[in-house]
Amino acid sequence: SQSLIEVSNLHKAFPVNKQLLKKPDWLKAVRGVDFSVTTGETYGLVGESGCGKSTVSKLLLRLLEPDTGEVSFQGQNILSLSKAKMKQIRRQMQIVFQDPYASLDPKWKIGSIIGEPLKIHGIGTKEERRKKVKELMELTDLRPEFMERYAHEFSGGQRQRIGIARALALDPKIIIADEPVSALDVSIQAQIINLFKRLQRELGLGYIFIAHDLSVVRHISDRVGVMYLGQIVEEAPTQKLFKDAKHPYTSGLISTIPLPDPTKRKELELVEGEVPSPINPPAGCGFHPRCPYTKSECKENPPPKVQIDNNHMVRCHLYAE
Ligand code: SF4
Ligand code: MG
Repeated sequence: SQSLIEVSNLHKAFPVNKQLLKKPDWLKAVRGVDFSVTTGETYGLVGESGCGKSTVSKLLLRLLEPDTGEVSFQGQNILSLSKAKMKQIRRQMQIVFQDPYASLDPKWKIGSIIGEPLKIHGIGTKEERRKKVKELMELTDLRPEFMERYAHEFSGGQRQRIGIARALALDPKIIIADEPVSALDVSIQAQIINLFKRLQRELGLGYIFIAHDLSVVRHISDRVGVMYLGQIVEEAPTQKLFKDAKHPYTSGLISTIPLPDPTKRKELELVEGEVPSPINPPAGCGFHPRCPYTKSECKENPPPKVQIDNNHMVRCHLYAE
């Protein structure tokens, strides 16, 4: 399959505590992120809040400019593109947000919300746009008569379908889904994940599926990248990650997934402690204050990226020679 997006060595820091006559501190949100996504593939990006996953999604869309690094879309480095060229690329890279309540204007009719990207890009006549909106609603299991109703009349799950229909309006190649089911009830989550899966089969889309919860990405991702303090600390095909996690943080995350058998839950080891601040992150391995296997070098030297095999990477001193 064809490469859609390739990200290499992305860095982004934000100044904080800006005060006169004082140097700002830097919040190091993204600290050297690499990954790629191919056509028809779902790449799951997982980590606790504040780990930098949303910043990554903004960097991919150039809603933020990275300090260093490269993002290429279908072989083209998009960071050097003009605004006009970038507008064309943006048609092919769409985002679905976590909170369908916040991202849809409650005073707009559903038809206008879904059709707005077509209007912005000057695509089709009014009639043609209406026809396309109808098709998009069928595709996402929304009844066509909803077209004349308002976003506030709909439940969270329906609103997320509206958000997805809108994201599909420009026939994108890739969708960045930033916590698209986190605000929904568990029963609705499954429906929306199944919708994403069906759309991928029918349209051959690539997804970057962002979540704080491994159990969510498990059911949709082909590969998973686990983020911690602005870095991907482990990456592997989904099955392999769940069977054979190497990074102590990943193992901790997996063990916090509720098991169907509640009597087994007691044996689980939880990842304890808070995520350290990305402002002045710990020296060495960012996970060392919480890791049960910390050794002296973990406090001093950042762990190297270790390839366990061709598709399994971990950043941890335990696996370095
Ligand atoms: Fe733990 Fe050290 Fe590995 Fe970091 S590098 S995860 S502190 S063992
Ligand atoms: Mg976020």
